[in-house]
Amino acid sequence: MAAESLASPRRVSVKRKALEGYREFVGDELIAEVRGLAAEVRGLRVLELSATATGGGVAELLSSLVPLQRDLGIEAEWMVIAGDHGFFEVTKRIHNGLQGMDVDLSGAEREEFLRHNEANARALEGHWDAIVVHDPQPAAVRSFAPALADRWIWRCHIDSSDAHVPVWEFLRPYVELHDLAAFTLEEFVPPDLAIPTAMLVPAIDPITSKNQSLPDYLARRTVAALGVDVAEPLLLQVSRFDPWKDPLGVVEVWRRVRETFPTLQLALVGSMATDDPEAWRIYEQIERETAGERDCLLLTDQMGVASHEVNAFQRVADVAIQKSTREGFGLVVSETLWKGTAMVAGRAGGIPDQLQDGVGGYLADSTEQFSARVTELLEDPASASQMGDAGARRVREHFLLPRLLRDHLAVLRNILAEGNGAR
Ligand code: UDP
Repeated sequence: MAAESLASPRRVSVKRKALEGYREFVGDELIAEVRGLAAEVRGLRVLELSATATGGGVAELLSSLVPLQRDLGIEAEWMVIAGDHGFFEVTKRIHNGLQGMDVDLSGAEREEFLRHNEANARALEGHWDAIVVHDPQPAAVRSFAPALADRWIWRCHIDSSDAHVPVWEFLRPYVELHDLAAFTLEEFVPPDLAIPTAMLVPAIDPITSKNQSLPDYLARRTVAALGVDVAEPLLLQVSRFDPWKDPLGVVEVWRRVRETFPTLQLALVGSMATDDPEAWRIYEQIERETAGERDCLLLTDQMGVASHEVNAFQRVADVAIQKSTREGFGLVVSETLWKGTAMVAGRAGGIPDQLQDGVGGYLADSTEQFSARVTELLEDPASASQMGDAGARRVREHFLLPRLLRDHLAVLRNILAEGNGAR
């Protein structure tokens, strides 16, 4: 198939948002700082280019960052690249390879990746001051259409610190055509990357249906309507059905904790991103594994788990778990702690930044440790609640959206300032 005959990128429409609404959460100083930076980049045309408008942390971030940039006078747009099932199978393998999985990319797969990148690049029209390319899926767009923007940023949201060499060697020449690569953590930067880097630590939006306050009775009613018995304890994991999030390991932890708490329910709430064909396979695997278990709820957003329902789950859960073995940032951790719910989470990627052992819950490394910590928190709800509150304070201080907006604007300002800043 010729590149031109493939589908084109699609514009994503977003709600309006106003920075002023965030003042009550983050205080005057940060709002002033954001406004100061925005004044330096007002009128800028910025395109955020990603692979999906729903499901996963990138979509979550962009649906808030794009409207807030607009509120500040930046002409921000968000487009998602087009791709078919075959393309997203390849890009998921690239994603897995970047996170260290031993995957081979065949010649045909490489060609598939490039063909879709070329088609998307050729279908993009216009000119931007800066294009921010998110994650590996559109990473080769710049190589096919360099004139679309004055500056190109590759924003990598995943842990690429120990990438599988052949996958990284394939991707690296395309990445290095960008002017800057932005990562979530310093330790994610591949050691041989030869372009300037910057850090952009993600954050959550407190004014969304997922994170806004929700009266207790409503939260309980919401999860009850989805099959939870609110009179009995609930263990929760919210995440894509992805091997790195270890959902089968969560089932194992639940089974062990049930030896002490026999009525413990488990809810696995997982969105199905359109760029993640692996998710259905894993979902079916868990379904088989938990067949006949009345107290295990498997919910996906394609079956109607809306953001306010995720919100309710994160509030009602007695303990939440994030059993990631590899993680980019793990937005769900801040989301959960923001609601004062204690967690037990893997020591992976951005998680220990958000949840320090003993503040917000516990970090754990093995199924045994997870089970012991979850049991401990269930046995002592008063201390679980105190930990949750401490976690919420940390999120307020470090992981709310205006802080990320400030860092994002600083990166844009620096990269566009000729001869200084990030370059
Ligand atoms: N999410 C959701 N519905 C679900 C499962 C996940 O809205 O059923 C959201 C979750 O609330 C979070 C994002 O998807 O905002 C996941 O981001 P995270 O950084 O934790 O992981 P990623 O999926 O990007 O690896």
